[in-house]
Order: sequence, then structure tokens, then C-alpha cells
Amino acid sequence: MTAEVSYEVVVIGAGPVGLACALEVQRRGLSAVVVDKGALVNSLVGYPTNMEFFSTPELLEIGDYPFPTAHYKPLREDALDYYRRVAVSEKLPLRLYERVLALEGTPGAYEVVTEKGRIRTRYVIVATGFFDVPNRLGVSGEDRPQVSYYYKEPYAHVGQHVVVIGAKNSAAKAALQLVRAGADVTLVVRGAAVSESVKYWIRPDLVNRIAEGRIKAYFNTTVQAIDADAVQVLTPDGLQRIPAHFVYALTGYHPDYRLLAALGIECRTDAARTPWHSEDTFETNRPGVFVAGTVCGGLNTSRWFIENGRHHAKVIAEQLAARR
Ligand SMILES: Cc1cc2nc3c(=O)[nH]c(=O)nc-3n(C[C@H](O)[C@H](O)[C@H](O)COP(=O)(O)OP(=O)(O)OC[C@H]3O[C@@H](n4cnc5c(N)ncnc54)[C@H](O)[C@@H]3O)c2cc1C
Repeated sequence: MTAEVSYEVVVIGAGPVGLACALEVQRRGLSAVVVDKGALVNSLVGYPTNMEFFSTPELLEIGDYPFPTAHYKPLREDALDYYRRVAVSEKLPLRLYERVLALEGTPGAYEVVTEKGRIRTRYVIVATGFFDVPNRLGVSGEDRPQVSYYYKEPYAHVGQHVVVIGAKNSAAKAALQLVRAGADVTLVVRGAAVSESVKYWIRPDLVNRIAEGRIKAYFNTTVQAIDADAVQVLTPDGLQRIPAHFVYALTGYHPDYRLLAALGIECRTDAARTPWHSEDTFETNRPGVFVAGTVCGGLNTSRWFIENGRHHAKVIAEQLAARR
């Protein structure tokens, strides 16, 4: 199959950072297209309903577009609207619901292979984030329909036994929302306590709900298996069965390493399996192929986020403009 279209730059991933990259290269006179396997800002679409960002709005802005909000911290819905408006205002060419599978060709003459066709290009910017591949539990029963690695909202769980696995921000927020919506919540934590990295305005709320017994919690505890109606856990006091109609395994996510390999991007052998790239230019081992945003941190998914990752866009765009 031959490539039917060509752009100077293909951006893989229509997240906040991918959009920032596309608009910055386009403003410098290079033609660009953004390809995403899902919706526009697909990761944010998957975040919990009415989720409040930790960042204030000006720290999430791209392309110098102001992000006005009625709240001190934007909600997911505000951000979805904001990034859509930016994409429309900049007339960014988008190919949504089109998964990228591989990268073929040679420097200066690449072909991005997608599930729908091929796109010829000189440069590729990979801004694929980390939210698509959950850190799985690796126990029997984890594929049961009542088990999810993504939490949306509590309303389907009124009067139900819900087990939340994890001890970071997502697990803390989910457990608190669920108990307030009338679910019977048990938190299962591998470590000895709720993580110190949980935001300072969320952690005391959770710790106090556990102390008063509204949320049951098992610490130093690992999941052994998930049955139809319970979660089997190994606690310091031995094996226990926790009743569970629903299970949320909020144990984090990691970049899609199979995709990185299919794009020809090598990874370092450090603990974070960092995709190989220059710290100054973000160019990978494959000339003309760049990484941007959260994916740059590898398994260290909190290294780059919107606030700091959005700045990769100008760094990369300026280099591409200079190479014309
Ligand atoms: C609950 C939660 C709250 C957060 N709050 C904040 C906050 O307050 N402030 C902050 O700065 N950060 C926050 N973050 C982190 C932030 O959302 C991410 O760091 C951010 O989305 C990274 O942007 P990105 O563009 O690098 O990646 P993403 O937004 O993840 O975008 C990656 C895109 O790549 C697409 N993609 C993946 N694989 C393919 C493929 N094969 N082909 C085509 N497309 C593909 C995906 O569909 C996705 O749309 C939060 C994260 C979570 C989970």
C-alpha cells in the first residue's frame, strides 16, 4: 500500500502536548497532522466525570490561548472544552479513531503506518502519553467484567461492595467519592500507609475516613485472586476474602512499549525504561523522530505532565523550523 497523503510533520497523539506540538509547528509554516487512536484529548475523555485538575488553568494553557474558568481549578469538562476550542481555532488537521501501528522508511522519508492507511512525512512527534496501558495485577480473575482499571463515577455502586486497589491520588479520590455516594468501600494497599504523594488536601480526608471506619482499609496487603463475588487478599494476618460486587484496580499506567518498538524508538536500561531521547532536543535514536510530553518519562509517569510537558512543543518546533 502506498501513502496517499504527505505532511512535513505527523504528530501521534491528540493529547494536550500533541496538540501543542502540532500548533507550534504549523505556526512556523510546516504542514502537520495529528493522528489519534481515539477521540480528541482521549485520555481526558477517560478521566473521572467532573474530575478537578490539580493545576490552575494558566498552567494547562497551550498556544498562548487563555483558559478562563469559573473555578480556581478547572474540571475535566472545562479542559475538554478548552482543548477542543484550541484545536478548532488553529484549524489543526486531525485524524481521530485511527491507531498508529508502525513507522517505516528512512530519515527525511518516513511513512507512518496506521490501521487505515499510510502518511508520508519528514518528521514524527510521538506524544502518546501513558494512559492506555494499565499496570495489571497479574492475578486470576482480573479480566472479570466487574474489574476495571479506569474509574469514572460512583453512581452505579450505591449499596454495593466496592474494593479499591491502590493508595495514590486516583484510588484516594475514588474511595472517597464512592463512600459518599453510598457504596461499601474497602481499600487494599500494598504499602504500610496511604501514599505520602497523595495531594495534601485529599490525604487527611481519606486517612480520617479510614480512622472512623467509614472506609475499611487493608495495608501491607496484596491481591491474590478475584472471584465472582470477592477479592482474595494476603494480609499480615493471613488470607482473607473481601466481598466485592465491583473492583477498581487503580494501580497506575505505563507507556505503550510495543508501540515505541514498532516506531523504532529504543529505550534505556534505567529503572524507568526511558524512551531514548536527547534531553535538549527530544530527538530519539531515530533521526527526525521526537518524543514529547508524558511518554518522555517512561515508567516515571509523574516526571512530565501537562504543566511542564507542554513546553516540549516549542523546543521541538523551533528545531524543525530551523532545519527547513
Ligand atoms: C486523574 C488525572 C489527573 C491529572 N491531573 C493533572 C493536572 O492537574 N495537571 C497536569 O499537568 N497533569 C495532570 N495529569 C497528567 C496529565 O493529564 C497527563 O500528563 C497528560 O494528559 C499528558 O499529556 P500528553 O499529551 O503527553 O498525553 P495524553 O494526554 O495521554 O495523550 C496521548 C494520546 O495519544 C493517543 N495514542 C496512544 N497510542 C496511540 C496510537 N498507537 N496511535 C494513535 N494515538 C495514540 C491516546 O489516545 C491519547 O489521546 C493528570 C492525570 C490523571 C490521570
